[in-house]
Amino acid sequence: MKPVKTRLAAPGPVEVPPAVLQAMARPPLHHRSDAFATQLVEARSVLADLAAVPGGDVAILSGNGTTAFEAAFLATVPRGARVVAAHAGKFGARWATLARTHGHPVVDVTAPWGAALAPDAIADAVAEAGASGEPVGAVTLVHSETSTGVLHDVAAQAAAVRAVAPHARIVVDAVTSFGVSELRPEAWGLDAVVAGSQKGVLLPPGLGFVWLSDRVRAAPPEPARSVALDVHGELDAQKAGRTRTTPAVGLVAGLAAARPALLAEGVEALWARRARLGAALLAAGEAAGLTAFAERPSPAVAALRVPEGTSAPDVVAAFARRGVRIAGGQDDAKPFLIRPSLLGFADAYDALGLAGTLEAVLREVGLDVPYGAASAAAAEVLEGA
Ligand SMILES: *Cc1c(COP(=O)(O)O)cnc(C)c1O
Repeated sequence: MKPVKTRLAAPGPVEVPPAVLQAMARPPLHHRSDAFATQLVEARSVLADLAAVPGGDVAILSGNGTTAFEAAFLATVPRGARVVAAHAGKFGARWATLARTHGHPVVDVTAPWGAALAPDAIADAVAEAGASGEPVGAVTLVHSETSTGVLHDVAAQAAAVRAVAPHARIVVDAVTSFGVSELRPEAWGLDAVVAGSQKGVLLPPGLGFVWLSDRVRAAPPEPARSVALDVHGELDAQKAGRTRTTPAVGLVAGLAAARPALLAEGVEALWARRARLGAALLAAGEAAGLTAFAERPSPAVAALRVPEGTSAPDVVAAFARRGVRIAGGQDDAKPFLIRPSLLGFADAYDALGLAGTLEAVLREVGLDVPYGAASAAAAEVLEGA
């Protein structure tokens, strides 16, 4: 049957709540107006609550997750410092490239795609690098590695790094864990945390978010390393209810309006809801004969390997014919991985719809999946059976 609407079921961009769309459809406010200042304060309070940093200070930048990571890195890491980049997926590898692009010597700590990076492996690399030359100035980590579906244990990784290199700055890509999985920047001893609007924050693409630790705020790299991406300057301005340069005012209005959809019951309830939706999707995939790819699955995305002889791009295309946009695998994982996601404005109804669509799609590509297999598994998780 031909679909009459299209749905985003990929790990960004995501389905956006109607209240957010309405807020963004209003005529833009002037960014120096009092009305905008009020919206900025509200938008920043949504971010502080999502970051689980009460009264916290998260900078709103215009751009995307990559912009925000670059800004966070330049606001945190001194020029020329040695960097250890821990990566087991596409996004983590991007941060190694970013550090090299800015002229930093980089040591890579890697694991195969799908694996969770062991905290000890990262700490050993940091200790070894520190013993053989300049101390390590920064470590880049990825919390939810969207390319592989792995939720890395950033709390344990950061603790292991701190034990061997207490001064190294810890810069964390939380683009698909922010507002999705438990994330406690202060308690975990992180120095910079990065997120983006089109993932767990229920907005379209166009904003990036950066939280910095007190020690980074107290000792920014001198002189500043960027003008457009000066997070310290931006935090100073935003605390006072303004931005340094013209922000994406429509998206800020959307963010201010996103509170009820995200935080009606508080951030811990949000994490629990996301965990349940993620688990339901993974259970649906496994019940349909697919294999979980991630050693430690992220609730942001269900990375599922299709059986030998089945083409993952064919599965993605069969979803698209039904009006549903899921993600496929990236790079080497393209032939065998699918990555459906309920990261956006989604609830149990969407999970059941996706599970049922998965059954139809897998049957279409020739797999022997009984109708109801994936939906039943999802329902059991959702209903707490
Ligand atoms: C999407 C994503 C990014 C990049 O975000 P852009 O907004 O595309 O720049 C970085 N890291 C992770 C883990 C992501 O999922």
